[in-house]
Amino acid sequence: MNRTISGFFWIGLYLLIVLTPIFMMLVPPVPSGRGFWLELSVALGFVGLTQIAVQFILIARFKRVTAPYGIDIILRYHRQIALLAVGLIIMHPVIIVIDNPSRASLLNPFGGNMASRTAWVSLLSLLAIVISSVFRERLKLNYEWWRLSHLVLGITAIVFAQLHVSMAGLYTNTFWKHAIWIGTAALMVGLVVYLRVLKPLRQRAFTWQVAEVRQERGDTHTLALEPVGHEGFPFQPGQFAWIKLASSPFSIEEHPFSFSSSAHRIDRIEFGIKALGDFSSGIGDIPVGTRAYLDGPHGAFSIDRYPAVGYVFIAGGVGITPIMSFLRTMVDRE
Ligand SMILES: Cc1cc2nc3c(=O)[nH]c(=O)nc-3n(C[C@H](O)[C@H](O)[C@H](O)COP(=O)(O)OP(=O)(O)OC[C@H]3O[C@@H](n4cnc5c(N)ncnc54)[C@H](O)[C@@H]3O)c2cc1C
Repeated sequence: MNRTISGFFWIGLYLLIVLTPIFMMLVPPVPSGRGFWLELSVALGFVGLTQIAVQFILIARFKRVTAPYGIDIILRYHRQIALLAVGLIIMHPVIIVIDNPSRASLLNPFGGNMASRTAWVSLLSLLAIVISSVFRERLKLNYEWWRLSHLVLGITAIVFAQLHVSMAGLYTNTFWKHAIWIGTAALMVGLVVYLRVLKPLRQRAFTWQVAEVRQERGDTHTLALEPVGHEGFPFQPGQFAWIKLASSPFSIEEHPFSFSSSAHRIDRIEFGIKALGDFSSGIGDIPVGTRAYLDGPHGAFSIDRYPAVGYVFIAGGVGITPIMSFLRTMVDRE
């Protein structure tokens, strides 16, 4: 499929998924005697929840999904749309109470019923995600621990939201409606298992090892990796991979770096790494032979997407790494 068609296809599918709960609300049997505002608040809650569920697909690094846009754009979208989704979810209880202030008791996390308490757990998890993400640097949260908490809170939010939907019960009033909601939540948890368990399991067969660490100008090193017992993987110049320098592919620490070597040398790939924090500052001390695992290639920033007779490259700082890969690849293609 061509990239533009593929891009529209995924946007269409995305809209369809996000709006599906509203279509489901219209399918009989529908609860009777409920006013417009109450129904609107439920619809907003459902759309917000589905948006959160879709976030799990966006971060699962499926190349077919990310290829038309680039994973960097997808991650930026993930950040923005998650805020909108949480906003919609907050509107759900707010409208319910404004519509009928006697329902305010539902907002008491220690009172209310089980349905409202599960909603609280889900909402607090979402708020913790938002606060820890927006203020991560100001709160000085370690990146790896923030990522782990992001995942745990995300799963908690989706599981407890599903419990809330089931316990409220009004829109899970047939077997298949209930099955769709439970199936959606299970699928999202499954995606996390895929990313954090199944993918690392597969990476065990595709080990790499450090072949060289070279000092470059400034605080930058070139890290060269060679495949162990496999042929490596093809990539486009400008793309990047998540690197784990660890004895196990299940390590929670992984960092994204752009390839700086030619796309024609897949038996030895290189990355230009600038010292910025604890991981990147230690690159110069990594011994040759250290085991590595890669998740890649990812990214849409490549000259191969924009064939032309010539290019002008403008780079700042370590942004030079993908440009080095462009230049080296172009020399090899001459
Ligand atoms: C697509 C992409 C390509 C990149 N390519 C290069 C490159 O070619 N060369 C290079 O030197 N740097 C590159 N970076 C930046 C590099 O990933 C971070 O500098 C590095 O992960 C910092 O880790 P640290 O532990 O040394 O620093 P820390 O002090 O832990 O982090 C410094 C900042 O880097 C970011 N960061 C830290 N860990 C991660 C992570 N696992 N994933 C994403 N961001 C993280 C966070 O914003 C953090 O605040 C790239 C980043 C991205 C997203």
